[in-house]
Amino acid sequence: MKPTVVLVGRPNVGKSTLFNRLTKTRDALVADLPGLTRDRHYGHGKSGSKPFLVVDTGGFEPLAKDGILHEMARQTEQAIAEADVVIFVVDGRQGITAHDKDIANKLRRLDRPVFVAVNKTEGMDKGVTTADFHELGLGEPWSISASHGEGVRGLVEMALEPYPEPAEDEEKERHPRVAIVGRPNVGKSTLINALIGEERVIAFDMPGTTRDSIFVDFERNGRKYTLIDTAGLRRKGKVFEAIEKFSVVKTLQSIEDANVVVLVLDAQADISDQDAHIAGFIVESGRALVVAINKWDGLSSYERDQIKNRLLSKLKFLDFARFHTISALKGQGLGDLLHSIDSAYGAAMIKMSTPQLTRVLIDAVAKQAPPRHGLFRPKPRYAHQGGSNPPIVVVHGNALDHISDSYRRYLERTYRDAFKLQGTPLRIQFNVTR
Ligand code: GDP
Ligand code: GDP
Repeated sequence: MKPTVVLVGRPNVGKSTLFNRLTKTRDALVADLPGLTRDRHYGHGKSGSKPFLVVDTGGFEPLAKDGILHEMARQTEQAIAEADVVIFVVDGRQGITAHDKDIANKLRRLDRPVFVAVNKTEGMDKGVTTADFHELGLGEPWSISASHGEGVRGLVEMALEPYPEPAEDEEKERHPRVAIVGRPNVGKSTLINALIGEERVIAFDMPGTTRDSIFVDFERNGRKYTLIDTAGLRRKGKVFEAIEKFSVVKTLQSIEDANVVVLVLDAQADISDQDAHIAGFIVESGRALVVAINKWDGLSSYERDQIKNRLLSKLKFLDFARFHTISALKGQGLGDLLHSIDSAYGAAMIKMSTPQLTRVLIDAVAKQAPPRHGLFRPKPRYAHQGGSNPPIVVVHGNALDHISDSYRRYLERTYRDAFKLQGTPLRIQFNVTR
């Protein structure tokens, strides 16, 4: 499981600068897709080989009409409560303030590990700048410069020390681990109940984590699946019910824990920013995806056409995924949905050998060579698979840093066709050798 690191602190101490530094490398991997909504408060980071989620509490979008500050505080508190690690950012140039002390008082009452990051300390005496902040009573302060990148790596390594390196091979279970995500009221609990139906249900909590995730195993047509709890779905007697408010952090965590995500949309409501944000997270996570357009019952065929066109144009960046129209309430379309979950899972976990990948590459280049860039002529030579879920194709050759984005997309399409990769993002990386 990926740990979640939450950044807190008063305004202007450098939280978003730190956030950008922590998430920079991962962002670069996701090509800009038209219509993709990025949320600059949630991102992916990597420390050595350890992946983690980062949440910047700095500028949470206020949801409530009444009391923006109140709502920001509520969101921040929720994020902190769901965090695995808190990084408390303070300003080393300004020194300790009353506001810092207030925040520290709150943090001290939590049973979460908190690390104090004294920011903006480039060119300053570390010992002197941090001395002040011992008073916060949150352990040894750590001096950093978010804008210069000093001390950041060490801070994160220390914060993530208790978390193990990711396992080399995560494929102990060879069946889909599915997260059902979507905003409130789209029909997630109804869908989960329809899927597991009469089947024998084993719900279990993941031990040893601060998260109270629920995993539910079930079988359909002789195939095994594990459903991952999202956004506070809880067992109530025989059925599941959403008993908590929508939680972005929990949604993110369940996407990370899954290998296939089902994004549930409500056909009878318009696509909201929240839908688009969740779709954006899924793309960034690289997980396989199936889109379920729910509440398809009771619509005229005119309405159905309208809805389909609108959804497909708004969510064009999800074109690698299959879209299904379903009715969770009436149990319609679920067999096809499961079938797409299976094939998306298969595509995400595919094993492609170096000779196969290289053959496809050579053919693609023979058909259309990468355009010359100034004095450089990029020359792809061979490719190997660099990972799965999402599959990563690493292309080797000369001057590959001069390959255009459109050529990258051309290679992506070619590999997608050659290996029939539907339902999963595919990443093409260039290994630059000169
Ligand atoms: P936030 O409100 O906590 O998210 O703070 P920002 O990240 O927006 O930063 C506030 C200001 O501090 C900006 O002008 C940043 O350029 C500046 N800043 C951030 N990190 C550093 C740093 O490490 N050193 C210095 N000198 N300035 C920084
Ligand atoms: P969640 O918050 O996403 O878990 O949504 P629920 O499963 O609680 O469903 C919200 C509401 O939508 C409930 O009143 C459901 O009965 C209704 N609903 C769920 N699926 C369907 C469907 O396929 N068709 C119709 N018409 N209503 C549905």
